[in-house]
Amino acid sequence: MDKCPFPRKPPRLGGSNVSRQTLGDAGPMNLVILFESDFVAADRVRLDGRRLRHVREVHHARPGNSLRVGLLNGRLGEGEITRLGDEALEMTVRLDQPPPQPLPVTLVLALPRPKSLKKVLQAVTALGAKRIVLFNTWRVEKSFWESPVLRPAALEEQMILGLEQACDTVVPRITLRNRFKPFVEDELPELIRNTRALVAHPSAATPCPHALREPVTLAVGPEGGFIPYEMEKLQGAGFEAISLGERRLRVEHAVPALLGRLF
Ligand code: SAH
Repeated sequence: MDKCPFPRKPPRLGGSNVSRQTLGDAGPMNLVILFESDFVAADRVRLDGRRLRHVREVHHARPGNSLRVGLLNGRLGEGEITRLGDEALEMTVRLDQPPPQPLPVTLVLALPRPKSLKKVLQAVTALGAKRIVLFNTWRVEKSFWESPVLRPAALEEQMILGLEQACDTVVPRITLRNRFKPFVEDELPELIRNTRALVAHPSAATPCPHALREPVTLAVGPEGGFIPYEMEKLQGAGFEAISLGERRLRVEHAVPALLGRLF
């Protein structure tokens, strides 16, 4: 077999039993996310587990180095490493910058299969979406609703990976709605008020608009697509059907393509 020309992925940095330390994949971590519980003084944090290993093994940081840090749901800034040992990393932090502007979108997404959901959540979090509704449609497999990926801590893990990637600190808010009709009839009209409501559907005649400046509610279907009844209900609720063209994209590719086109 040919030798892979690319550097090997950094080692997986799974870790202790604390969920925020077991974030599976060692992505770039362009930002070290801090939690209130990391603070040992007003301007000092102590980290262990995944973040300690990442800073040592991927950043190859040394005492005196500065890292970009951000408090979860708070401000960003710099952390200067004061101590770096096998057990812990200590930093003096200055948090003086606001997080980046969010994307003015509410994503209304038919619950994807667990693997796709993880990818979509990381991607849309990195792109700046702050409001996500995962809802049920005919072609969503029932078992997806039982997935451990839907546990709050597991959802947060994926979103934190997206925040670390994009240097943001604000975790999106996720709502789960496992009944289509009551959601579309009773909640959607209020949710889409004062937004441009678009439903992505490959066979729609209208091309996806671009460079919008208004807030958007974007509905995206499951792997098998929306059934005609669902399209009728969504259009009845005020959604306009739009398409990216005749190519059927996977949900995890369609969503970033749609967001990239829309804004
Ligand atoms: N099998 C379905 C495609 C489902 S793709 C069909 O042939 O209709 C899953 C979802 O991604 C779709 O419901 C839609 O919301 C979105 N999507 C995928 N490709 C798209 C495209 N070319 N244009 C608009 N939306 C698309």
